[in-house]
Amino acid sequence: MNSQPLNLTKIVVPEHPQWPSLSDQEKQAIKARISRKLEQQNAVLVAHYYTDAELQALAEETGGCVADSLEMARFGTVHSADTLVVCGVRFMGETSKILNPEKRVIMPDLGATCSLDEGCPADQFTAFCDAHSDHTVVVYANTSAEVKARSDWVVTSGIALPIVKHLAEQGKKILWGPDRHLGSYVQRVTGAEMLMWPGSCVVHEEFKAVALERIRRLHPDAAVLVHPESPENVIQQADVIGSTTALIKAVSELENKEFIVATDGGIFYKMQQMAPDKVLIEAPTAGEGATCVSCAHCPWMGMNSLQNLEQVLDSGGNEIHIDEAIRARAVIPIKRMLDFAAQQGIGMQDKGNA
Ligand code: SF4
Repeated sequence: MNSQPLNLTKIVVPEHPQWPSLSDQEKQAIKARISRKLEQQNAVLVAHYYTDAELQALAEETGGCVADSLEMARFGTVHSADTLVVCGVRFMGETSKILNPEKRVIMPDLGATCSLDEGCPADQFTAFCDAHSDHTVVVYANTSAEVKARSDWVVTSGIALPIVKHLAEQGKKILWGPDRHLGSYVQRVTGAEMLMWPGSCVVHEEFKAVALERIRRLHPDAAVLVHPESPENVIQQADVIGSTTALIKAVSELENKEFIVATDGGIFYKMQQMAPDKVLIEAPTAGEGATCVSCAHCPWMGMNSLQNLEQVLDSGGNEIHIDEAIRARAVIPIKRMLDFAAQQGIGMQDKGNA
């Protein structure tokens, strides 16, 4: 496996935003105002599993959606709203716009990015692809529109295995980006020949194997659920490895009463809703050597709040714009993935990504 040198320490990880706390009465009032504004503007909320529980609940209460990023984008294609209000990170807003070019897509904070997206600048990634032009370029959904436009396939964490296996069977060599942990996992399972871009998720990279072993000893009957953006020695301890959607499903379907969960803590809202009698334990991020810049809570996802959601509905700002030439290229590898899923009878609902 080769890697392009990239100094990921250059990525500036923001402090987790601290929003002024609201009383229950204030929360109800702001939620009621947001609901009215959504209706007046024929807008719908589309929220990711990692956002604040209040936002997820509001999206559900107002007829919006709470999902992984691909399902968020697909929801936009079938909903009649003129405006999609994407609560998540920027690549999610961009993917919504790529699939729904005729709609207005706005976000509470356009500065909400992602370490995978930030760590894969389009110019450097393009040069890497150009230097290995005999490779098929497969990129994870957590990338900019420009990077998607340079790719042959876009994949989510749930569908990466069958697509890479399919390409490997055709004798294709794969250039994979940007998450090196997910890429290594896919390579181990499929045996494909893969060149890796060395990106990582600051949230999942922090899960610590030694501390996880200790917590497993304390909860021997707990099932360990791990997102494949986590390091290999954490993945090796998993009972279930999967996308956000797959991990939520595991909590409702497995008979275990306790679950140790190695992904962003925002997912607990949906897990608890689906299985209120189950006990959820955060996988440890503070083992030996941990620097814990995020502590299982994505700081960029934390940039979404009731307050700035209301502000963006008032101002009408923070709209996602994508150059049409880039959008037209970026939609091709996304549609290729969706067509593959349809041909193989793979339900994308269960195949989501981060
Ligand atoms: S949790 Fe990781 S992959 Fe998801 S948006 Fe945050 S930094 Fe990106």
